[in-house]
Amino acid sequence: MCGIVGYIGRRDATPVLIQGLKRLEYRGYDSFGIATVGSAIEVYKKMGRISDGEAGVVGLHGCTGIGHTRWATHGEPSDINAHPHTDCTERIAVVHNGVIENYSELKRQLQARGHTFRSETDTEVIVHLIEERYDGDLLAAVNATLPLLEGSYAILAIAEDTQRIVAARDASPLVLGVGDAEIFAASDMTPLLEYTERVIYLEDGDVADITSDRLNIFHGGRKVERPVELISWCVEDTRKGGFAHYMLKEIFEQPQSFYETIRAGIEDHVQQMVTEAGEITLVACGTSYHTALIFKYLAEALCNVPVRVEMGSEFKYFTPPLHGLVIAVSQSGETADTIAALKMAKARNCPTLAITNVMGSTVTRVADKTLIMRAGPEIGVAATKSYTAQLAALMQILNVRREGAFDDILSHAHLAISEVLLREIKEAVNLCSKAEHVFFVGRGAFYPVSMEGALKMKEISYVHAEGYAAGELKHGPFALLTEETPVVAICTPGPTYSVMASNIKEMKARKAPVIGLGVEGDKELAEIVDIFIPIPNTHLLVQVLTASVALQLLAYHTACALQRDVDKPRNLAKSVTVE
Ligand code: GLU
Repeated sequence: MCGIVGYIGRRDATPVLIQGLKRLEYRGYDSFGIATVGSAIEVYKKMGRISDGEAGVVGLHGCTGIGHTRWATHGEPSDINAHPHTDCTERIAVVHNGVIENYSELKRQLQARGHTFRSETDTEVIVHLIEERYDGDLLAAVNATLPLLEGSYAILAIAEDTQRIVAARDASPLVLGVGDAEIFAASDMTPLLEYTERVIYLEDGDVADITSDRLNIFHGGRKVERPVELISWCVEDTRKGGFAHYMLKEIFEQPQSFYETIRAGIEDHVQQMVTEAGEITLVACGTSYHTALIFKYLAEALCNVPVRVEMGSEFKYFTPPLHGLVIAVSQSGETADTIAALKMAKARNCPTLAITNVMGSTVTRVADKTLIMRAGPEIGVAATKSYTAQLAALMQILNVRREGAFDDILSHAHLAISEVLLREIKEAVNLCSKAEHVFFVGRGAFYPVSMEGALKMKEISYVHAEGYAAGELKHGPFALLTEETPVVAICTPGPTYSVMASNIKEMKARKAPVIGLGVEGDKELAEIVDIFIPIPNTHLLVQVLTASVALQLLAYHTACALQRDVDKPRNLAKSVTVE
């Protein structure tokens, strides 16, 4: 959600900033802008996509600059509200990710002292506060401003006549890239990949004073050392590689990312933590919430351990009594609600584990221990390979608790995923792309799989979809079933097979066309549904994966048929870094 980039060094800053912002586009944004230190502070900002507005940046000069993609929280998306924001004298420019919660009070005070505001954003108070405290020392002015701010921020500030960037973070992500006589700053590592593999993850409360050849980091007014870490991702991972969309590429990368996550295993100290847990609570949002629910069904059935799943956004305000291990699941590691929940679990002395795709991200810093999934960079806004990699990480926890009982199954699961990638689903796509509403239903672990299938469908195709526990449909939603309301039903062998088959017949009796997902060779199911999508006849753990991948493909091709912007769905952001 929103992106920040900064550059200081020997290159012309503008192309580096624009390229960096493009790399961050996947996070979601509504407007963009950059500011450089040329002969004065030079600013260009524009509503809309970078590719539509970037021609306007040609007049900007200088080797020091900051850039921003905005995801509006205060003030509508517009040219004026886009960042960077400048002070009254236009000597200082700031970009900001996050929310300044006490901005209206600060704004009133600043206006009373004669400051003129141009935008409706909360961010603008920051630059006016810095202006009041600036006497040529930007670091001192930023340091004097930060204690006045309540809320969350990652900030980059520049001022005229000084080749330096001052960066600060609190509860919003910010990473520095260390090059050869040049330094980069960004919300995540993707803009840095083509320039350097050496990164420094700033901690909450850090302030960095950056020139091209010197980097000083302060915390609580004291100079601190932060380790330089090496990134394992490479720039090729962030390219589309011949696929029509990042999402399709990422769907096809799943056999590999699943396998890599399994192959990486679980470190001994994490194994010990998950084995000792008498109860497990997972906190997560969105797609990660669905993987957590799948884990609950699997863990309770296969490992006999009680599992509770909480939404990050609810947990903070309605915290349940907590016992045992708390696991936070977040693809980006920056999900604000999940981080808040994690902090509360720590405050209650629960052992905490983070499952994330991004080493060095905030959850890895907050949790006691981390289990990294190996999905590599995921650029498509809709989670696909990070979802299956999360399942890989969570299934390893089951495997550890069952002393390796699933070793064989998990190390071959990628083969079944590869098979499903080749399924012919045109007929099902045709049906869904003509529908206004689609239901997804399943039982047990396939219930959250259905919820995820519905989420994928609505987020990228904008077709309204609901994921339901199959038995619940008759307690209300049946009223909506017509010949124009397809139902995607997952029905695999097991204790609920025959009740699922009855549910499907009930839906058919209400004239709903049914797309059935079942195991290869299931003639009985193939006969009762309108369209049959086979998945390999394997272990439950693998069926959960293959059914999910089939539903990703259904959502993807439906979105393409409806000519949606698959990689950048409207109104959505990749990593949701505000509450
Ligand atoms: N709250 C700020 C605004 O609305 C920053 C939003 C963002 O993080 O992009 O301008």
